[in-house]
Amino acid sequence: MNKLLYILIAILFFSCSTSKKIVDKPIVFDQKRVELTQEYLSERYGIQQESPNILPKMIVLHYTVIPTLNEAFEAFDAATLPDWRPDIQNVSGLNVSSQFMVDRDGTIYSLMPETNMARHVIGLNHCAIGIENIGGTEELPLTRAQLKANIWLVEYLSDKYPIDYLIGHYEYTNFVGHPLWLEKDETYRTIKTDPGKDFMQKVRKATKNLNFKPVPENPENNDI
Ligand SMILES: [Zn+2]
Repeated sequence: MNKLLYILIAILFFSCSTSKKIVDKPIVFDQKRVELTQEYLSERYGIQQESPNILPKMIVLHYTVIPTLNEAFEAFDAATLPDWRPDIQNVSGLNVSSQFMVDRDGTIYSLMPETNMARHVIGLNHCAIGIENIGGTEELPLTRAQLKANIWLVEYLSDKYPIDYLIGHYEYTNFVGHPLWLEKDETYRTIKTDPGKDFMQKVRKATKNLNFKPVPENPENNDI
């Protein structure tokens, strides 16, 4: 009898630890956002198509710096960029976003369809799914629950799409010159440090079995 109980507990524990819920929390994806996304695909990448869809080949991990889920959601929700982002406003009026957001307790939120383009990484949005993690500052380092959720989500997405690359946002310029790099403006770059090397190392170690391709070397980055 005891043995049976142990087995049942084991099964329960196993199923709880492998099935994770993704909570829908959609940002505005109205006709305006569709049009701005298509305009972005066309002007930045030379991709003309009838939909804002992408075929995911890459996962990019981020942190928001913004300390709460609600504030980060608010920042992504509107279709157009707010006035306080003049730094990237002239490139496109499309607001930034990501397909997923992971709260500090590890809850995963789906903000938009996985195969719609989000503006989260220069040069690679046409093939990259973004995962934003709430926090990331010295006062608010990413949590163990977020790490576990990222690992789960990377496995989940790799199961669904032909994902070749898993990168941290800080690694994106390594793709300059790579066939996936499509940004036309050589001066459009921002310096990124998220989600941190330590976090990337841990996610990579846990997803080693997925055999992602190595991030290309970029001689331009040797000095950084
Ligand atoms: Zn980022």
